Amino acid sequence: MKKDSNFKKLMEYAGNHKYLTYTSWILSALSAAVALIPFIYIWEIVNNVIKNDTSKLIHYGWMAVMFAVVSLLVYIGGLMCSHLSAFRVATNIRIKAIHHITTLPLGFMDKFGSGKMRKIINESSGATETYLAHQLPDKAGAIVTPIGLLLLLFFFDWKLGLLSLIPVVIAFAIMTTMSGKNMQVKMKEYQNALDDMSNEAVEYIRGIPVVKTFGQTVFSFKKFKATIDRYSEWAISYTKDLRLPMTFYTTAINAVFAFLIAGIIIFCHNNITDTLLLDLMFYIIITPIITVTLNKLMFMNENEMIVNDAMERIDSVLNLQPMSEPNKSDVPKDYSITINNLTYSYDGQKNAINKVSLTIPSKQTVAFVGPSGSGKSTLASLISRFFDSDSGNILIGGVDIKSIKKNDLMNYISFVFQNSQLIKASIYDNVRLSKPNASREEVIDALNKAQCGDIIEKLPDGMDTIIGTKGTYVSGGEAQRLSIARAMLKNAPILDEATAFADPDNETKVQEAFSRLSKGKTVVMIAHRLSSVTNADRIFVLKDGEIEGSGTHESLEKANGLYAHMWEKYNQSVCWKV
Ligand code: ADP
Repeated sequence: MKKDSNFKKLMEYAGNHKYLTYTSWILSALSAAVALIPFIYIWEIVNNVIKNDTSKLIHYGWMAVMFAVVSLLVYIGGLMCSHLSAFRVATNIRIKAIHHITTLPLGFMDKFGSGKMRKIINESSGATETYLAHQLPDKAGAIVTPIGLLLLLFFFDWKLGLLSLIPVVIAFAIMTTMSGKNMQVKMKEYQNALDDMSNEAVEYIRGIPVVKTFGQTVFSFKKFKATIDRYSEWAISYTKDLRLPMTFYTTAINAVFAFLIAGIIIFCHNNITDTLLLDLMFYIIITPIITVTLNKLMFMNENEMIVNDAMERIDSVLNLQPMSEPNKSDVPKDYSITINNLTYSYDGQKNAINKVSLTIPSKQTVAFVGPSGSGKSTLASLISRFFDSDSGNILIGGVDIKSIKKNDLMNYISFVFQNSQLIKASIYDNVRLSKPNASREEVIDALNKAQCGDIIEKLPDGMDTIIGTKGTYVSGGEAQRLSIARAMLKNAPILDEATAFADPDNETKVQEAFSRLSKGKTVVMIAHRLSSVTNADRIFVLKDGEIEGSGTHESLEKANGLYAHMWEKYNQSVCWKV
C-alpha cells in the first residue's frame, strides 16, 4: 500500500515523462524474454553435436548471437527511457525541496543542519534515480525470466525444471527474512547514522578555523568521532545479522546445478538416457540466469527500502511548516522597532530570550551587549524574523513584522555579519547580490562609500576579479568592507550589524564605512567589543535572555551593574594588551 503511494508520488514528479517509465518496463520485460532464446539454440547445438549432425551448427550459433544482441539492444532502449524519466524525477524533487526551503524561516537551517539538508536533498533524490532508472525496469525483467523459464520447462523436462526451482524457492524464503519490517527499521537507523555523520563532518570542517586558533584537539573531534563510532557500531551489527541468511542465500542460488545432479542421481540412476543428459545440460547452462535474476530481485528489495526511506526524508523537508506570510504587506509609519514581551526557546526547555520588551526609536543606534550566550544574536535574529518567537511580538513602525511580506521586510533591513559570506564570483556580482537590478555605477558608488577603493585597485581585473581564483583572496577585514558595500547598495532603513574588527589596518576603514552606512538609519548593533558601542544612543545589557539594564554608556557606567563591570574588564584588557 505504502509502496504504491510512494511510486505514485514519484510518478507525479515525472510529469509528462511518466510514460517513459512504463515503456522502460515493457522493453526490459521483452529483453528478458528474448534473452532466453539463445539458450534454446545452445541446447540445439549441443543436441546436434551429440547426434553428430554438424550441418546447422553455424546457423544456430549465429541465431544465438543475434537474439543475445537483440535482447541487449532492447534492454539499452529500455534503460534510455527509464533514465530520461528518472533524471526528471530526481531534478523535480530537488527543485521542489529547494523551493520549499525558501519558504522556511531563514534561521531554520541552523537548527536543521546544513549537512543533513544537503544529504537529504542530494542523496534521497539520487536514491529515487537508481530505483526508477535501474531497479524497476530490472524488476519487470526479473518477473518475466521465471515465467519464461517455467514455460521452457514444458518444452524440455518438467521434472528437471521443478528440481531447479527448489533452490529458487529456498533463496526466496531467505530473501524475505532479509527484507522484512525489522530490516526497514535497520535501514532507517542506517540512514540516520549517515545523516548525523554527514552533519557533524560539515560542522567539524566549519569549525577548523576555531580549532586551529584555539589549539583545541581531542574535544573538537569528540562529537564527530561519536557519530563515526555509532555508524560503525551499526554497520557491524547489521553485517552480523545478515551473515547467516546471506551465506545460505548465496549458497542456494549458486547451487542450482548441484540440486539437479543430486536429483538425477537419486531419481533416475537406473534410467539415465542421452535425452535426459541433454536436458540436464540445458538446465545447467541456464542456471546462471536464475542466479542473476534472483540477485537482481534481492538488491531490488534493498533498494525499495532505501527509496521508501528516501521519500520519507524528502517529505520530512516538504512537511516543514513554511513561515506564515500575509498576502499584502502593511506599511510601517517609520522605522522604529518595538519589542513586546518576547520569548523564544531553541529547545523548548531553556528560554534564549525571556519576556523581553524594549523600544528603539526610528533612526537611532542601539547596541546589545552582554556575556556570550546572553541572547544578543537571538534577539537580533528575531527582529529580522529569521525565525518566529514563541510568544510576544515585534513591531516595525507600529506594524507587526508578521504582517509584512518576507521580501518587503528584507528590503527594510540590511545585515552586516561578523563572518561575511562571499561567493566565488566577481566582486561586482558579490556586491550586487543585495540588489540584483543595480547598475554598474551604483555598485561602484557603493564600493567607494564602503572604502573599498584599495581592494579593487590591487586586484588584477578590478571589480570584475573573481574571488577565490588565481590566488585572489580577500582578508577578513576586506570581506567586511565588501559586505558593507553590499548593505550600502541595498540602502535599507534598518541595519542589523555584528561586525568585529578584524585587524587594526582595517579597523579605521571599516569604522568609517560603517558610520557612513548607518547615517539616517535605525541601527541594531551586536557588540563584540565595547569600544564600538560607547557612542550608541542606547545600550541594552542582556543577561540570560533578559534585559538587565539599559541607557547610554555614561549612565550605565555610573549605575555599577553588569555593564560597568564589563567596561572595567574591557579597559583592563586594553591596558594589558598595550
Ligand atoms: P549571544 O549572541 O549573546 O552570544 P545567542 O543569542 O547566540 O547569544 O545565544 C543565546 C542562547 O541560545 C545560548 O544559551 C545559546 O546556547 C542558545 N542558542 C543559540 N543558538 C542556538 C541554536 N542554533 N540551537 C540551540 N541553542 C542555541
